[in-house]
This record gives sequence, structure tokens and C-alpha cells, in this order.
Amino acid sequence: MIKLAGISKAFGKQLVLQNIDLTVRKGEVVVILGPSGSGKTTLLRCMNFLERPSSGEVTIGDFTVNCKRPAKKDIHTLRGKTAMVFQQYNLFKHKTVLENVMEGLIVAQKMPKEEARARSAEVLLKVGLSGKLDAYPSQLSGGQQQRVGIARALVLNPEVILFDEPTSALDPELVGEVLAVIRKIAKEGITMIIVTHEMSFAREVSNHVVFMDGGVIVEEGKPGELFHSPKEERTKQFLKRIT
Ligand code: ATP
Repeated sequence: MIKLAGISKAFGKQLVLQNIDLTVRKGEVVVILGPSGSGKTTLLRCMNFLERPSSGEVTIGDFTVNCKRPAKKDIHTLRGKTAMVFQQYNLFKHKTVLENVMEGLIVAQKMPKEEARARSAEVLLKVGLSGKLDAYPSQLSGGQQQRVGIARALVLNPEVILFDEPTSALDPELVGEVLAVIRKIAKEGITMIIVTHEMSFAREVSNHVVFMDGGVIVEEGKPGELFHSPKEERTKQFLKRIT
């Protein structure tokens, strides 16, 4: 379970998140929607303290970190329970596909190299890249690079995978292959929180949808309810604009 309690975040004088409470159950796929600048990415980054919240606390599993002077080791522990897939892939350019995926297991989880190699190859098979183990990121398409990004998160076996607009840097024809991989792993019961602008994907893959605007959660609910009969005017307007 992931629980955000009273999360606020200010950048200077700008209050970007205001008192956010959110609970995500184990195995749930939560999609966060909202207009540009509504605070979606910042909220995601607060969950693993890539951004330190100005107030509030984050619980993942049985571990809670409060934003007030958190110890470095507590942030480290919290991050160890998460993995993030970034918009820009963030791969190591000078490492091969296999080395990119192995890195977290060796460095963060201190797994022996041979075991890390075997486990990474297995996950790369799952994302359809078993033929690219020795390729470098520059030799791959954007869609393939993002699938490496997903494999790198998946291999860590985290309590939750955080996806930050995983397809928004891709050419339209490459979006489908990445969404297909996310769809596949969603079916395996991995807890996922996904910020995306891909509405039909959001509707299909999620068990729970959160709509944000102006740094607050305006409305949340089951995809069927939120997409078909939103309660709040702001949600209705947003859905009308983008669908
Ligand atoms: P988009 O859909 O365009 O990615 P978003 O909903 O993810 O938008 P955020 O990226 O979380 O929105 O940004 C929310 C607000 O916080 C924006 O006004 C943004 O300019 C501001 N912001 C985000 N990161 C920083 C930062 N590091 N420093 C200052 N302001 C920031």
C-alpha cells in the first residue's frame, strides 16, 4: 500500500501541491490525469522524494517518511521500494541494454553479477528485447529505449513503479509498443502509478483514476465512473477538451 498524507509542495512562493491525500492499494494501477502544470509530475516525484514535499508524509508498505528533516537513509530506504520510468528514458549511454538493466541490481541490491545478468535477461525477454542485449541505447528506437527503461524498473521488483509520462517523448508510431508492455505488466499485479496524457490507454489500463487541477485532487474514482460520469465541472471540462 502507498499512502500520501497531507502532501504539499512549494517552489519558492508558488504552491504547486496543496494538501494531497491519496491511498493506492497493492496491485492497483492508478492513472493521474490533469492539464499541463497541474502538479502531476511533482506529485509523482514527491512519492520517492526526488522532490522533497514541503509538508506531509509518504508511506510505502510499512515504511513512512515525513518531510520534516528526513534522514538520508530513510529516503534511501523509501526509494528502494520504488522504481521510476522517466519521460526521457534516462539510460546510461555507455552501457549496453543488459548492463543498463543489471546496474540497479548490482549497485542498489548488491546482487551477484551472474544472478543479475540472468534476471535482467529474463526481464528483457518479457519486454521483447531479448535480441538487443548487447546493443547500446543510441542503436535503439525511442520505443525500444523506453522498454529498456521499463525493464530496468521491473527487474528491481519494487513495491510500486512510478511512470512519468512514459510515452510523451515518443514519435506517435512508437507509442503503441510501449503501452503494450505497460499493459502486459499491469496484468501481473504490479502496483503502478502512471502520469499520462494517453486517455484511451488510461481508461483501459487503470483500476483507479485521479484527476488533478491547480495542485489539488479534484476528483478520483473508477475509470468507468470518472470518464463516463464525472461529478466535478472541472473534470467535465477537461475530458471534453481532450477526448
Ligand atoms: P505537464 O503535464 O505539463 O508535465 P504537470 O501536471 O506534470 O504538467 P508539474 O510538472 O508537476 O505539472 O508542474 C507543476 C508546476 O510546478 C508548474 O507550474 C511548474 O512550472 C512548476 N515546477 C515544476 N518543477 C519545478 C521546479 N523544479 N522548480 C520550479 N517550479 C517547478
